[in-house]
Amino acid sequence: METWLRLTMAAGIFALMIGLETLIPRRKAHIDRQQRWPINLGLAAVNMLLMRVSIGGMAYLAADYAQTLGVGLLNWLDAAPALSMLVTLFWLDLAIYWQHVASHHLPIIWRLHQVHHSDLAIDATTAVRFHPLEILLSMVYKTLCIILIGANPLAVVVFEIILNGAATFNHSNIHIPTQLEQALRWLLITPDLHRIHHSTLPEETNSNYGFSVVFWDKLFKTYRPEPQQAQTTMPIGLPALRLATELSFVRLLQLPFKALR
Ligand SMILES: [Zn+2]
Repeated sequence: METWLRLTMAAGIFALMIGLETLIPRRKAHIDRQQRWPINLGLAAVNMLLMRVSIGGMAYLAADYAQTLGVGLLNWLDAAPALSMLVTLFWLDLAIYWQHVASHHLPIIWRLHQVHHSDLAIDATTAVRFHPLEILLSMVYKTLCIILIGANPLAVVVFEIILNGAATFNHSNIHIPTQLEQALRWLLITPDLHRIHHSTLPEETNSNYGFSVVFWDKLFKTYRPEPQQAQTTMPIGLPALRLATELSFVRLLQLPFKALR
């Protein structure tokens, strides 16, 4: 049930963002969609299948078991449901922020995460461009964080929906009117902010790690409000990986096992 709820919400938000990208694009398409979309959507399909046949439901099950067995901080404290929901949401968002920071600073995890950053443009399909091993690693990490805090099971489902929706939104190539964009920045990582994280400049890639709320980047001094170059023309991707031959579907699956450049 929770899987179908997550998938329906994800598909709805994805379709909405793709529609808005067509109606109000932020950047012109410099790279042909036909070159990128089969790869991004192909990785999404592989990842969905992999999770379906392996540990896809683990996060929710872990929270449910932890609650039944009374394991984890919130269960030990017997926290009220509303408090436990709120703490779970903030805790998991913070945990994902630190996972993202680690993905950039620990070479062994960067080997996986560079697949996400190798996209030469950024749109809603970039949000699902991940190496299958990074998806598996994320699920194991998230499950450990869930057990540690004794997460509220309902909050875990809500968090997955928020994380997915926020990632689709902040990778999207949509033009948001300036005043509205500036207002959204007080709370959210907007597409303009997250696009800076996909810049080819290393100092910009190593900023704006948040996925949903903007607080963690501000708190831990990784917030960067503007890119050095214009949002509409700045190059996206990794300087070392720019050839279509290097970015084929098979090459991307092999990428983590090759020497880092
Ligand atoms: Zn990243």
